[in-house]
Amino acid sequence: MKEKEGVIKYTLNHQDAEIEKDISIVEINAWRTVLFKLELIGQIDARYDGYGFGNISQKVIDKNNIPSFIISGSQTGGIESLSKQHYCSVIEASPQQNTIASIGKIEPSSEALTHASIYQQDKTINSVIHIHCPEIWNYTKQLKLPYTSADIEYGTPEMANEVKRLFNSGQLKDIHIFSMLGHKDGVIAYSESMKKAAQTIISYYSQAIALEQNKQQR
Ligand SMILES: [Zn+2]
Repeated sequence: MKEKEGVIKYTLNHQDAEIEKDISIVEINAWRTVLFKLELIGQIDARYDGYGFGNISQKVIDKNNIPSFIISGSQTGGIESLSKQHYCSVIEASPQQNTIASIGKIEPSSEALTHASIYQQDKTINSVIHIHCPEIWNYTKQLKLPYTSADIEYGTPEMANEVKRLFNSGQLKDIHIFSMLGHKDGVIAYSESMKKAAQTIISYYSQAIALEQNKQQR
């Protein structure tokens, strides 16, 4: 069966309420707009049957030291500049049990479980970005990117296990970006900061374009 973008596959316990008022979306939102302009996050008729693609999240530590993360909401891909009501706060996530608890005026992205599984691998990770980039994805092997297996779909407990396997394998020690070969054009980058994660993506995007241009000139 053809994979459909944007369909939530986990059990969601969602509370329809504003996210905490002291949570700032300024940084996450600016980087998201940059990625939107590069068409790495978006909604384009000719791609994925017109479904929105890509999403972005940022860790939040509250005054009681309890971590959660905010993530762009479900089906927001087509909007260039999001507002606070387009973000959702994920307060609990269990990739093993395939469940998420969230608060927001919108439901979390369908890929929230994969974001959660990445935060769980390393406490120093503060941001996760999922883009759809045909250039990086097609050159996964030439770029020597780690990758999740082609038979594993996004947003599933299997993907969470696969992410854990990648971290445990040591392949992500120096390189904080990987392709999801079972999710067309799907790439994930993460870092201690939003800026570093976005810069990693842009750096690999240029390397993939260089490979493509080099191929055309030969
Ligand atoms: Zn995706």
